[in-house]
Amino acid sequence: MEDCVFCKIVAGKIPADIKYEDEKILVFTDVNPQAPVHLLVIPKEHVDNILDLEDDGLLMKIFATIRNLAPKFNLGNGFRLVNNCGKKAGQTVPHLHFHILGGRRLGWPPG
Ligand code: 5GP
Ligand code: ZN
Repeated sequence: MEDCVFCKIVAGKIPADIKYEDEKILVFTDVNPQAPVHLLVIPKEHVDNILDLEDDGLLMKIFATIRNLAPKFNLGNGFRLVNNCGKKAGQTVPHLHFHILGGRRLGWPPG
């Protein structure tokens, strides 16, 4: 999608600190990190949010990627996975993404 910032990262038009990439998925550091580890996991294909994702296989790949990355970022003692779905939930980039937050104690409820 032309105006989408994450599609631009996928296309290499905007630089990003890429931590993992395969045919379908890209993982990079959030530009405004909220924890020592703050990664964004996205499908390369543009999907606005989880409600628009029709490919359950892709969802499984995303979660398998998260599971595989956790030990590489020393997240075995705990991390948080966040998906803001829709404007009311605080989604600012309308390209599906999961935040992985870790490396510090995380409070609950998140507010
Ligand atoms: P949301 O609020 O939609 O759940 O999360 C969007 C996230 O994308 C925010 O945490 C924001 O810091 C991050 N972000 C926005 N633009 C860019 C960018 O150009 N590069 C990177 N690496 N992260 C971005
Ligand atoms: Zn996009």
